[in-house]
Amino acid sequence: MSVRKINFGAGPAKIPEEVLLKVQDETLNYENLGVSVLEISHRSKEFAVLLNETKQLLRELMKVPDNFEILFMQGGGSGQFAAIPLNLKGEHSYADYIVTGAWSQKAAAEASKFIEVKKVFTPAKPYVTVPDQDSWSHDENAAYLYYCANETVHGIEFTPRAPPTNVPLVADISSNFLARPFDFTNHGVVFGGTQKNLGAAGLTVVFVRKDLIGKEQAVTPAVFSYKEMIANNSLYNTPPCGSIYITNLVLKWIKNKGGVDAIYEMNLKKAKLIYDIIDNSDGFFHCGVDKRFRSIMNICFRIGGPQGDESLEEKFLKGSLERNMISLKGHRSVGGIRASLYNAVNLEETQKLAEWMNEFETQK
Ligand SMILES: *Cc1c(COP(=O)(O)O)cnc(C)c1O
Repeated sequence: MSVRKINFGAGPAKIPEEVLLKVQDETLNYENLGVSVLEISHRSKEFAVLLNETKQLLRELMKVPDNFEILFMQGGGSGQFAAIPLNLKGEHSYADYIVTGAWSQKAAAEASKFIEVKKVFTPAKPYVTVPDQDSWSHDENAAYLYYCANETVHGIEFTPRAPPTNVPLVADISSNFLARPFDFTNHGVVFGGTQKNLGAAGLTVVFVRKDLIGKEQAVTPAVFSYKEMIANNSLYNTPPCGSIYITNLVLKWIKNKGGVDAIYEMNLKKAKLIYDIIDNSDGFFHCGVDKRFRSIMNICFRIGGPQGDESLEEKFLKGSLERNMISLKGHRSVGGIRASLYNAVNLEETQKLAEWMNEFETQK
């Protein structure tokens, strides 16, 4: 294991060692078939078992209600930015969007090709907080109310209360997928790519409430149609077989760890370790995000003041590399440091980062 670096990347991100070792072990010979899982038909008996088991694991671990279908799609989280209005517009003319950071902003921009997009408040830039829900303007005629549960670039994690009407919530959980318990109440569609918390890139899991299926716009491509995907048990075309396989192993890993409650408890501990250092540093480390909405997955901060001192940040990143820690640089649009503490990043690894932050602060 000594060759392994500590990976704080935002995505594709760390995959648990146990999972990678299992993949290595099975690469030449999957389930005694004499071939790899990457080489078998997606319509084979063996793949059907894998696919259905993966769905079942998701249903069990996330307590997915019976009135939701689970779809395995492609096109990433970004594909869903288009698929959502294509599938949910129905007779509606617009959808409401909660824009709290880069990803919901991107989702709103893409959706506007297919439906009129109304933002429920004017996004406050820089993205550091979410205005009080009572001040939002949204109404019962919207096709849905969209939000991003964790803004990966800006480090904002947030869940709206139920809309006042039965407008379904649509949630992008790409970067906090199975990192905390998720309540499906009031939701219509929940989706996430798997490359942050659930394995490799290429697979997008979509949870769709059954009564919302069948309202798609006529131009909806079949690969983006929830109805088509359900009718074919996600096998309308060749699915990302390898990514489904890896997600299957990651789900079993989560189950072995005690499920999502145990994972959440650990994630809280990890995040607290880093935020406490930031908060006790007299402003040397600075996280501008409103404390009520701080992400436990992506901790974004500056060094040397609110605007950041780039030479200090540079030095911090260099020292991180020397200590075997990689991918701590903040997203290019915000700068600074971003520590992504996804499920696979363990407490010991987080402690290494904490030690380095403490050491760096005393060197100043
Ligand atoms: C990474 C990410 C996406 C986009 O995923 P792609 O697979 O690159 O399309 C969307 N939303 C959030 C919150 C993300 O973190």
